[in-house]
Amino acid sequence: MILAALPELAPYARDAVRLDPERGEPDHGDSSVGGPLLWPADEPWPGCSLPDETGGPDGGPAAPMVPVAQIFRRDVPGPWWPDGTDLLQVLWCPNEHGDPPAHQADAAPVVELRWRRAADVTSRLATPPAPTRYDEDGYLPRACTVTAEHVTDFPHREELPEELRPRLAELVRSTGEEGRDVITRLAGWKLGGWPTWHLNHPTVFECADCGTAMTLLFTAASDAETGVVVGRYGDLRIFTCPTDHRHGFQADLH
Ligand SMILES: [Zn+2]
Ligand SMILES: [Zn+2]
Repeated sequence: MILAALPELAPYARDAVRLDPERGEPDHGDSSVGGPLLWPADEPWPGCSLPDETGGPDGGPAAPMVPVAQIFRRDVPGPWWPDGTDLLQVLWCPNEHGDPPAHQADAAPVVELRWRRAADVTSRLATPPAPTRYDEDGYLPRACTVTAEHVTDFPHREELPEELRPRLAELVRSTGEEGRDVITRLAGWKLGGWPTWHLNHPTVFECADCGTAMTLLFTAASDAETGVVVGRYGDLRIFTCPTDHRHGFQADLH
């Protein structure tokens, strides 16, 4: 419908899947936000040993990370899956760090990513370590099941060629209700799509390993259902290299 009205947008259309989280009791075999992860028994659970407000290298042992999301490919198919993988896991350290590594977002939880093949997890870690310390409840996602909704996402008009911008603005006006933009930078927890840039100008992150422009992989949004609050009720986004998933990610808080 959008492309019928403005066919020149076609090169900017990106697949996205909104993960509509709903408080529940997801199982380790389910896609979830804040739910149990399908984790190999012989793989160490990620810990964060960066200094934080409440501890760190001098103040105690590494802080166990907490599950943020687990997504199975069967629930959320899309172009973001590297060959041979069918499970994406996102964890974070529920503490803020004053001076995190450059690929992590400032004043935000420190993120960890895992791509897996679910069938490789033959022996599952039954009891992952609980968080020993955390700054804020907003960094402890409540267990939610997710319902996937496939959408097509478009960028903010500043990321488009000049001549397309007024026409996109008009399309946004004519399709949204009460001034809501239901076309670009779709809000909420999602895989893929475009990031919002309502606080500053659009930024393109370059892969530190190969220089390719990174694309948005995952967005964790602040909302009441998950209890997550990041930034000023903002989004924590994870950008990855489209050419090789083993290249480092870039996290960003907006
Ligand atoms: Zn930490
Ligand atoms: Zn790269």
